[in-house]
Parts: sequence; C-alpha cells; structure tokens
Amino acid sequence: MTDTLDTAVDPETTEVEEALEAFLAAIDPSALSPVEYRGARYDAGLAWVHFPEGFGGLGVRPKLQAVVERRLREAGAPPPADTLFFGLALAGPTVVTHGSDDVRHRLLRPMFTGEEVWCQLFSEPGAGSDLAGLSTRAVKDGDEWVVNGQKVWNTIAHLADRGMLVTRTDPDQPKHKGLTYFAVDMHDPGVEVRPLRQITGEAEFNEVYLTDVRVPDADRIGDVGDGWRVSMTTLMNERTTIGGGGGTRPRGSGPIAEAMRIWAAKSDKDPVERDKLMKLWIEAETLRLTTLRASAAARAGNPGPEGSVLKLRFAEMNKAIYELCLDLLGPAALVDYDYTMRRSDIIGLEGPPGASRKMFLRSRANSIEGGTSEIMRNILGERMLGLPGEPRTDKDQPWIDVPRN
Ligand SMILES: Cc1cc2nc3c(=O)[nH]c(=O)nc-3n(C[C@H](O)[C@H](O)[C@H](O)COP(=O)(O)OP(=O)(O)OC[C@H]3O[C@@H](n4cnc5c(N)ncnc54)[C@H](O)[C@@H]3O)c2cc1C
Repeated sequence: MTDTLDTAVDPETTEVEEALEAFLAAIDPSALSPVEYRGARYDAGLAWVHFPEGFGGLGVRPKLQAVVERRLREAGAPPPADTLFFGLALAGPTVVTHGSDDVRHRLLRPMFTGEEVWCQLFSEPGAGSDLAGLSTRAVKDGDEWVVNGQKVWNTIAHLADRGMLVTRTDPDQPKHKGLTYFAVDMHDPGVEVRPLRQITGEAEFNEVYLTDVRVPDADRIGDVGDGWRVSMTTLMNERTTIGGGGGTRPRGSGPIAEAMRIWAAKSDKDPVERDKLMKLWIEAETLRLTTLRASAAARAGNPGPEGSVLKLRFAEMNKAIYELCLDLLGPAALVDYDYTMRRSDIIGLEGPPGASRKMFLRSRANSIEGGTSEIMRNILGERMLGLPGEPRTDKDQPWIDVPRN
C-alpha cells in the first residue's frame, strides 16, 4: 500500500490533466470571486470529475477528483466554504444519479458555485435510525405537491436555499415503498426554521416546520415512490464523506495532530498516556490508509455499504482522540471554553488547533450524525459480513397500519 494516490498515466488521467492545464491557462483561480471561479470550473467539467460531461464532470473515475483538487490548490484556488458540504458531498451525487436532465441542469451548477446552499431534511422526531418510518406528507395537487410535517436536527438549515427533502406520498404502501424525494425551496413561506442548541452552546442545527409548502413536481428527484432508493444514495455518500475525510491528508494530520501537539508541550509525560496516544495514532493512520484504499478501488459512481466502516471508525476514534486531549490537558481542560449561544456557519466534524475543549463536546455527535454507530454495525453485520438481519416485523405492512406514538 503506497502513501500516495496512484496516478499512473492512462487515458482518463491524461484527459483530466489536459483539462486542468487548459483551465489554468484561461483562468487564474486566485483572481476571481469564488462563484466565478467555481462556475468556470463546473463548465470545464472539473467540478465532480466522475459526473457526466455537461453536468460538471468528464465521466472519469472518481479518484481523479483528488488530482484536480491538488492541482487547483497548488494554483491558489480557495477551498469551498464549509456551508457547501451538503451540496457537494450529498445533494450533487443524488441529483446526478436520480434527477432528470432538467433537474440536473437547474440544480447542479448553483450548488457547485455556492449560489445555492443545501441542507438535509431527513430526520424527524419519530424517524431517525428508522428513517423509512417518516411521517412528513406530500400530496399531489396539479403539477405541485403540498408538503406538511416536521424535520429535526437539520444542520445549517438556517443558511440553506434548498433542502433534500424525503416525504411520504403513499401511506398505504409498506414504509420503504411510499416515499418520494424532492429539492425544496427553503425560502418558501411555509418553511419555518428554528434553532436547536447543542452541548457546545452553539446552534449548528435546527428543527424545520413545513406547513402547506408547495413544491413543483419539476423539483422531484427520482420517481414517485422511489424516495428510499434515492435517500440511500445520499446516505451512502454522507457516510463515506464523514468517515473518509482524512483520506487525502498527510500522515499524522487532523485530530491526532492536536493530541500530539498537546503531548509535545507537556512537561510531565506519563507512559500510560503515551501508550494510549500511540494506539490512537496507529488507528488514525490505519483509517487514513483504509480510506485511500477504498477510494482507489472505486471505479465509478456512488459508494456502497463499505462507507459505514469508515464512518464507524472515524466516529469512535475521533471521540477517543478528543477525550485523550482533555486527559492530557489535565485541569487546564476545564477553563477557556465559552458556551455562549452562537449560530454556527461551520459543520464541526473536526476542530482547528487549540479547539479540543469544544471538540471533546462536539465529537459526541460523531457517533449519531449520518447514522449512529449501532446502525453502522448493523449495516456491516448484515450487508458486508452476511450475518442474519434484525427482525423487521413492519417491513411488509402498510405504513398507515404500523403502530406509532
Ligand atoms: C450533529 C448532528 C447533525 C445532524 N444533522 C442532520 C441533518 O442535517 N439532517 C438530518 O436529516 N438529520 C441530521 N441529524 C440526525 C441524525 O441523522 C439522527 O440523529 C440519527 O440518524 C439517529 O436518529 P435519532 O436521533 O432519531 O435516534 P434514534 O433512531 O431514536 O436512536 C436512539 C438510540 O437507539 C439506537 N438504535 C435505534 N435503532 C436501532 C437498531 N435497529 N439497532 C440498534 N440500535 C438502535 C441508536 O443507535 C441510538 O443509540 C444530525 C444529528 C446530529 C447529532
């Protein structure tokens, strides 16, 4: 296993390199506004390189995206704003996989440029792990759908222009079959976004109330009743992105670098703590290499259940690293954190240097967001190891007949 991505020359690599050189000959990324730069990049097929031509891509292997990112970074291109996470990593792959050409044309470019910020409207008070049990209703009215219901834990919904919305369109079907997926306009007067405060003091996420929201049928993603399959594309991409974030970074960077930094500054070094630190360092490196191996193996399209391995290990490891950071800090861990309520415009999966007090708290959410660690273990057991499934008594029952609180 090599430390770097294999970029041996082949026709697809050559195509990407030529597209990059032509792009950089015409455009200086550091001289344009982010929207202009990202728009030109989309038009050159260098947004998501594995997407089809004409939709921000060149139709090549997904791993060549890393080549694009590296080359553009070297040319002075700014990184995307944190708020673009849901569009770039979740909504983009979902729209390109399941959307009609009209939907792809209208939604993908502003999503990539950042002119439209996206959020994810999946979870509900009665449907988190059991997402297929959700209750938000969409009823067809002419060429529109009327949506009513409540979503919850919706990260950056307060900044979003569009939401990935899963609704129930046929309550008489079993729960996985009566769902339909839409791109909802978050500025519709029927959309109300209320802050939810987290253990960190910040309100990164929200509850979202939908009251008689009118969604054009033209903004449907996938077929009516196919919302579960469409949602799976979103979730598989979410898990792989959360878990695989460290794959393109150098060895020893990310949260483990923070633990190493605190360790190096300590005057009284305890051998038991050194042992814990070394175990976590090795685990961080193993996860980084596993992510590299998974991305090198991906030939095309969307990730599968293997993303759950990365998500599970990332979550458990991140929590352990930040816990060790506080142990290493000792009494100093108890001071210098401000719990003031703030509206956050970042998605706090990892913190900057010096943020381990906050990140100890924030990382508690890593094993919940994007699917809990228990659910990741169920997926690994059933879909990767082929172990017997959980009993699912309501699987074939019409959703309307399933007992609920
Ligand atoms: C920081 C953060 C950001 C989030 N952002 C978003 C967002 O942007 N959009 C969005 O839609 N949602 C978001 N979520 C919601 C997240 O997806 C859900 O919290 C998660 O899926 C769990 O659902 P739940 O909270 O309803 O818990 P529940 O599903 O009620 O689970 C409660 C407990 O029971 C366990 N459990 C449940 N079912 C099983 C089972 N079958 N086997 C074993 N154990 C089980 C769970 O693991 C958990 O420990 C976010 C959550 C967090 C913490």
